[in-house]
Amino acid sequence: SAVMDKFLRRKSLQMRDQQQAWQSSLQGRRLQEFRKSLPSYNEKDIILSAVSQNQVGHETAGDDVVVISGETGCGKTTQIPQYILESEIDAGCGALCNIVCTQPRRISAMAVSERVSVERGENLGESVGYKVRLEGEKGRNTRLLFCTTGILLRRLLVDRNLKGVTHVIVDEIHERGMNEDFLFIVLNDLLPHQPELRLVLMSATLNAELFSSYFGGAPIIHIPGFTYPVCTHFLEDILDTTGYRLTPYNQLDDYGQDKMWKMQKQVLRKRKSQIAFVVEDALEAASFKEYSQQTQDSLACWNPDSIGFNLIENVLCYICNNKKPGAILVFMTGWDDINALKDQLQTHPLLGDPSRVLLLPCHGSMASSEQRLIFNKPEVGVRKIVLATNMAETSITIDDVVYVVDCGKAKETSYDALNNTPCLLPSWISKASATQRRGRAGRVQPGECFRLYPKCVYDAFADYQLPELLRTPLQSLCLQIKSLKFGSISDFLSRALQSPEPLSLAGRHLSVLPVEPKLGKMLIYGAIFNCLDPILTVVAGLSVRDPFLMPYDKKDLAESAKSQFAAKDYSDHLALVRAFEGWKEAELEQYGYEYCWKNFLSAQTLKAIDSLKTQYLSLLEDTGVVDRATCNAWRHNEYLIRAVICAGLYPGVCSVLNKEKSVSLKTMEDGNVLLYSSSVNGRETNIPYPWLVFNDKVKVNSVFLRDSTAISDSVLLLFGGELSRGPLLNSKRIDIKAHQELLSAVQLLVTEDQCDGRFFFGRT
Ligand code: ADP
Ligand code: MG
Repeated sequence: SAVMDKFLRRKSLQMRDQQQAWQSSLQGRRLQEFRKSLPSYNEKDIILSAVSQNQVGHETAGDDVVVISGETGCGKTTQIPQYILESEIDAGCGALCNIVCTQPRRISAMAVSERVSVERGENLGESVGYKVRLEGEKGRNTRLLFCTTGILLRRLLVDRNLKGVTHVIVDEIHERGMNEDFLFIVLNDLLPHQPELRLVLMSATLNAELFSSYFGGAPIIHIPGFTYPVCTHFLEDILDTTGYRLTPYNQLDDYGQDKMWKMQKQVLRKRKSQIAFVVEDALEAASFKEYSQQTQDSLACWNPDSIGFNLIENVLCYICNNKKPGAILVFMTGWDDINALKDQLQTHPLLGDPSRVLLLPCHGSMASSEQRLIFNKPEVGVRKIVLATNMAETSITIDDVVYVVDCGKAKETSYDALNNTPCLLPSWISKASATQRRGRAGRVQPGECFRLYPKCVYDAFADYQLPELLRTPLQSLCLQIKSLKFGSISDFLSRALQSPEPLSLAGRHLSVLPVEPKLGKMLIYGAIFNCLDPILTVVAGLSVRDPFLMPYDKKDLAESAKSQFAAKDYSDHLALVRAFEGWKEAELEQYGYEYCWKNFLSAQTLKAIDSLKTQYLSLLEDTGVVDRATCNAWRHNEYLIRAVICAGLYPGVCSVLNKEKSVSLKTMEDGNVLLYSSSVNGRETNIPYPWLVFNDKVKVNSVFLRDSTAISDSVLLLFGGELSRGPLLNSKRIDIKAHQELLSAVQLLVTEDQCDGRFFFGRT
C-alpha cells in the first residue's frame, strides 16, 4: 500500500527532526556528554556495524546474532538499544524499526525505560516504552520496548514469528534465567526463517563463548571497561587486621561520656567477644575440613548464619569510623533479612545516628520511588549504606559505592527433582557472582571489598551459578512448550544450552491450561461440581500472588484482618475467596480502595486476580467442561468448595494432631512441618479437622506450608487420590467402617484404578 509507505516515510522524517532538535538542545547536549563518557560509546560504531551487517547473507543462525559483553555500568542496557534506535532514526527509517529488549526483572524494565526516555528528552510511552505483566507504558509510536522475558515469551504464544519485530535484544543473559534459556531455543529455531530479525545478546561477565557457539559462532564484542582496583578482605583478614578493633571503642568515647554510652559499650564489647568466638570456631572447623575432606564439605560446615547480623554490624561500624567517605553496598540474602538488619542497625549507637548515616534498602519488590533514592548522593558527611539483594549485582548500578560487604549467599529457588519441593534457601554464590559483587566497589575510585567468609570457603564456590532451567520445577515450562506446539518436551529441551536431567521430565502432567497441572485439575473439578467462580478465585490467587499484604511493621494487625475472613473455617483459600468477593462488592459501591486499605489487601493484586479469572474462564470454556447455566449453582456451598480444593491440592496433605497448647502437623515425606504465621491456621492452637491440604511447601531450616485448608476424613477419602493405598491414611487411623456406605457409593461410580484421582467424575 503506497499510502502506508508514504505515511511511514513521513513519520520517519518527523522522528529524525525531533531527534536532531533534542540532540542540539542544551539539556540534550548535556546528557549527550554523559552518554559519551560511558565505555560502550567507544564501541558504538563496531556494535552498530555488527548488528546491521547481519542483514546480508543468512547462511547460519550465527549471522543474525551478536553477543556483547562488558562490565556492569558500562552502558549496555541503557545505551545499546538506544544506539540502534538512533541509527535507524538517523537513517530515516525510524517508523519501520521495532526493537524489543528483554529484562529478567520487572523493576529493571521499568527503571531502564524511564532512564532511556529521559536521555532522549521524551516522556515514557513515546518512542520508548515498557511492558511487564499487567502493567505497561507503550504508545502508538513506541519503537523501543523494554519488557520482561516472560512478556516476549507470551507474545510468542500468539505470534510465533514475531512478525514486524526487527531487533530482539536479550539482556543479562549471564544470569541464565529459565525464561531466557527457553527464549534461546525458540529464537534459535526462528532465526533461519525470519531474515529481518536481528538478535543481540548482552552479558555482564565473560562466558560469552558459550552463547556464541550455541548460536552458530556469533561474533562477540567485548566492551573494555575501566574499574579501579578493589582490595579484597576475606574473613580471616578482617579479623586479623581489624581484630579486636572491629568496633573502634576508642572512638566511641568521642561521642559522649554519659552513662548511656558506657552501658552501650559494655553490651558491644560482650557481643563482640561472642562473635570472635563463633568466627574462630567456624574458621577452624572450615579449614580443618578442607584438609581432611572434600572442599564441598567446608561449605557445608561453615555457617555464617550462626554469626548473624552482628558481624555485618561490626564491619559496617569499622568502615564508618576508619575509612574515607564513600557509600557502602551490603549484599544480603533477601527482603526479610534486609528489613531485620535495618531495624537492628537503627538502634546501633554509631550507625543509628540518622544525621550521619543514610540507610537504604534495595530489593526487587520495592516501589520505584523508593528505588530512585538509591541513586541520589547523600549530603557531605553522611554515609550512605545500601542493603541490597543480589539485584545490585548486575541490574542496578550505584555510582558512588566504594565499599562492598558481601555475605556470600543469595536466596535462589532450587528444585529437588526427587521430592518435588522447591527450596528457598540461601545458598552460596558462585565465584563469578563474588567477583561481580566486588567490582561494584571500584567504579569511581579504588575500593575495598569485605567478604564475610573465609578464603577456603571462597575456593570451594562453583565457577558459575547453576542455570535456573536445571534447578526449578519444569511444569510451567513444559506447559508453555506444549501450548507453543513444539512437540516432544524432551526433544525440545535437548536443544537447550544445557538440558535438565531426564528424571525432572519423567513425571510430567500436562494440560491445555496455562497453570500448574494440579490447579488445572482444580478448575475442572470446580466446573464439574458447579462451584466454578470461587475455585477460579482460588486458582487465580495462587497463580498471581497473595493479595493479603503483610507489612513488616504491622504484621499483627494484618494477620488479624486476614483471619476475619476465615471466620473459623480454617482455610486460607476460603479467606481469599471471601476477601475477593467482598472487594468485588466494594468496587461496585465505589469503595474498593477503602476496603483494601482497611483489610490490608492489595488492590492491584485483586485486579490481577480478577483479570486472570476471566482468562481462565474463557480457556475453560474452550475445553467444553463449562456449562454456563449451572457452573455456579453451588458457588456458596463451602463443603463442596473445600472438597474441590482438596481434589486439586492432593497429595499436598498433612495430618493434624491437636496437642494441649499447640497443633502438630506431619506429612509423609517430611515428618513434622510448620505453618507460616500469615496462614489463618498458623496461630491456631486447636484445629477441629483431621487434615490440612496445602498448595506449597518451602524448606527454610524446617519445612513450612503456605496456604492451607482444613478438610474432613470423608473429603480426603473421596477427593484425595490413592484411597486405600495411602500410607498416610494408615498412619492415622480413619474409621473406615463409618465411611463404608460412602465408599461403596463411590465404588459404584469408579473402578479402583480410576480412584487414583484424575478426572473420573462424569457430568452426571
Ligand atoms: P550496564 O547495563 O552495562 O550495566 P547501564 O546501561 O545500566 O549499564 O548504565 C550505564 C550508566 O548509566 C550507569 O553507570 C549509570 O551511571 C547510568 N544510569 C543508569 N541508570 C540510571 C538512572 N536511572 N539514573 C541515573 N543514572 C543512571
Ligand atoms: Mg545492564
